[in-house]
Amino acid sequence: MATVLPAGRPVTELPRVGARQAERLAKLGLRQVSDLLFHLPLRYEDRTRVAPLGELRPGESRLVEGRVEYAEVVPGRRRRLVCRIADGTGAVELVFFHFYPSQAKRFARGTRIRAFGEARSGLAMLQMVHPEWEQVRGDEPAPVDEGLTPVYPTTEGLPQATLRRLVAHALETCAASVPELLPESLRTSLALPGLHEALATIHRPPPDVAVRDLIEGRHPAVRRLAFEELLAHRLSLLRLRHEHQNAMAAPALAGDGQLRDALLTRLPFALTGAQQRVLGEVLRDMGDTHAMLRLVQGDVGSGKTVVAALAALAAVECGWQAAIMAPTELLAEQHYRAFRDWLTALGVDVTWLSGRLAGAGRREALQRLADGDTAVVVGTHALFQDEVAFHRLGLAVVDEQHRFGVHQRLALRDKGAGGETQPHQLIMTATPIPRTLAMTAYADLDVSVIDELPPGRQPVTTVAIPNGRRDEIVERVRTACAEGRQAYWVCTLVETSEVLEAEAAEATAEYLREALPELTIGLVHGRVAGADKEAVMTAFERGEVDLLVATTVIEVGVDVPNASLMIIENAERLGLAQLHQLRGRVGRGTAASSCVLLYQGPLSETARARLGVLRESNDGFRIAERDLAIRGPGELLGTRQTGAMQYRIAELARDGDLLDDVRREAARLYTADRECADALIQRWVGEGERYAQA
Ligand code: ADP
Ligand code: MG
Repeated sequence: MATVLPAGRPVTELPRVGARQAERLAKLGLRQVSDLLFHLPLRYEDRTRVAPLGELRPGESRLVEGRVEYAEVVPGRRRRLVCRIADGTGAVELVFFHFYPSQAKRFARGTRIRAFGEARSGLAMLQMVHPEWEQVRGDEPAPVDEGLTPVYPTTEGLPQATLRRLVAHALETCAASVPELLPESLRTSLALPGLHEALATIHRPPPDVAVRDLIEGRHPAVRRLAFEELLAHRLSLLRLRHEHQNAMAAPALAGDGQLRDALLTRLPFALTGAQQRVLGEVLRDMGDTHAMLRLVQGDVGSGKTVVAALAALAAVECGWQAAIMAPTELLAEQHYRAFRDWLTALGVDVTWLSGRLAGAGRREALQRLADGDTAVVVGTHALFQDEVAFHRLGLAVVDEQHRFGVHQRLALRDKGAGGETQPHQLIMTATPIPRTLAMTAYADLDVSVIDELPPGRQPVTTVAIPNGRRDEIVERVRTACAEGRQAYWVCTLVETSEVLEAEAAEATAEYLREALPELTIGLVHGRVAGADKEAVMTAFERGEVDLLVATTVIEVGVDVPNASLMIIENAERLGLAQLHQLRGRVGRGTAASSCVLLYQGPLSETARARLGVLRESNDGFRIAERDLAIRGPGELLGTRQTGAMQYRIAELARDGDLLDDVRREAARLYTADRECADALIQRWVGEGERYAQA
C-alpha cells in the first residue's frame, strides 16, 4: 500500500511527474493530486471480457484473443505488417503500419495474442488497426480487468495510459484524505452515494454499470459530484454576498418622496402593479446603509426606465447624485432625452456624457459632475473612465447589463465618494435570465422582476418568410405607413464587421427608397456620425421618418411606440435573445404589431427551431429557457460573464433539476456549518472565486 498523500499536494509529488508533465496536466486544470479525482472520463472501454471473434462487429472496441495463423509484411505504397489471429469462432487481422522488424518475429504461428482495438471492415475480414496487444503465455485463461477502463479527456504528450496510472495512484493514495463533505442526512434524502463510492464508480466502474448513464451524467455517482459542485458555487456566492454586505457601506437614501410624487403626477400613465412593487424593493434597499446590488429584470417594453428615473430621484432628494449608463450611444441618448424631459421640469439638472463628447463640452460636463452642480448624469461607458469623478455618487444605474462586463460594473461601483461608501447599484436587463442562471452567475445580486406589461399592449404577431418573397414585405411596409404607422427594417450580416454591415444597410435603404418613393426613409448604422444619428432618431421618434433602416445598433432599448412593423433580415443567423430584443422594438404602443423574420433558406435544424420558438412565444423567459437548451449558458451570457460558471462536472442544461435542492441546502449549510461550507468552496471553487467577485 502506498503512503497516503494529502489531497492538496501538487501533482509533481506523484511518481514520474516532472515539470513538463505537470505543465501538461495543468492544461487540463489538474494541479493538485486531488484534481485528478475529479477529472471525469469521456467514455469507457470494456476489457472485462474476452469477446469471441465470431461476435465481433465493425465499429466495436473489444478485447479479443486468438492464436496467430500467419503474419506477413505486405509491401506496397503503405508497407504494413498483417497478423491474422483466430479462436475457432472467427478471425481478425491485426494491422500495423508502424512496426519494428522484430515485431513480425513475435507473431510466430500458434502464438497466443490478446488485443484491444476497434474492429473495422477490411477487404477479406474484420481488421484492427494498431490495436494494443500482448502475448499471452501458457494455456491458462489470462486475467481480465475487473472494471471498465476509463478514457479521459487529455492533451498532447499525455497518453491515456499515463493519465490512467496517475488517476489510479491518486485514488489509492489520496482519496482517503479527501473528506466526505455532504452530510449523511442530505445524501440519504437525495439518494446520492458517498464521495468515495462515487469516485470508485466513476473511475473503476464495475462491468455491469449503466455505462450510458455514467457518460451522460445521469448516474447517481456523477449527479452526486455535480450536486456537490453546484452546492459549492452557491455557497461561494452566499459567502461573497455576506462579505459584500458587511463591507459595503452606502449612504441611506430614503428621500422624502417629493420629487418622485411630482414626477408621478406628471406622467401620462400610472405605474403598473409590477413597476410599483419593484420600485418598492429598490427604494427599500436604497434606504439601507448596505449598498444595494439589485438586478431588475423586465421583458422588453415592461417600463424599466421610469423605475430607474424614480430611483434616481430618491437619491437626488437626499442630495446625492445618480449616474445612468447604457451600452450604446443610441440607447444612452434616448435615456438622456427621457430623463431630461421628465426631470428638468422638476428642476433637476441632467448632464450628458459620452465618449464622443469632446473639448469644452466635455470639460464642462466633468466639472459639473465633480462639483456636484448636476444631480443626474446619463451616458455610455465613458462614465467608467478614470477622469470621471463625482461629487457624491449615491446611485449607479446600469441598463442592459448583459452588454457590460462585470468589471465595468465594478469600476462604477468604485467611484463612490472618498472610498468610505459605495453607490447603490441598480442593474436593468431585458434579457431574461432563466431561473437556472439567475441562481448561479447572478446569485450575488438581489433580483426583482417586472412581470407585467403596461396595459393595452398587444402581443406581436411573428411570421418567418423566405427572402424570395421580399416584395410582399415591401407592400406590407407601404400599407402600414399609409395607415400612419412606422416600421423598422433591420439589416444583419454573418460577420460582425461594422463596415460591411453599414454597406448592407446603405444598399437596402437605397433599394427601399426606390421601391417606396412616397415614404421618408431614415438610415442609422455604426458609421453614421453621432449628430446625424441623433437627428434621424429624433425624426423617427417624432414620426417624421416612416421607415427606419438600421443595423443591429438599434437592438436594445429604442422606444418608439408608434412603430408597429419590424422586419429582420437574415433572421436565421441571429440568436434568440437578439431576435427577441429586436422584436421588442415594436408592440410598444396600442396598435397591433407584427414582426417579419426574413430568412435565407434552406434552414438548418437549429435555425428552424429558433425561428419556431419565436413564432410561438412572446414570453422572454420562455424564450431564454429555450435559448439555454439550444445554445448552452456560455453563449447566452456572452463569454465575459461566464467566469463564475466554468463548472468542472455540472452542466446547467442537464442538472437544472438539482438547483432547488442546491439552493435550499446551501442556505442551510451556510448557517449550520460554516467550516464545511468553506471546505466545499475550497475544493470546487478555490481561486475561481475571484471571477465571481469581478
Ligand atoms: P423597457 O423596460 O424595455 O426599457 P421602457 O422603459 O423603454 O421599457 O418603456 C417602454 C414604453 O412604455 C415607454 O414608452 C414608457 O414610457 C412606457 N411605459 C412605461 N411604464 C408604463 C406604464 N405603466 N403604462 C404605460 N406606459 C408605460
Ligand atoms: Mg430599456
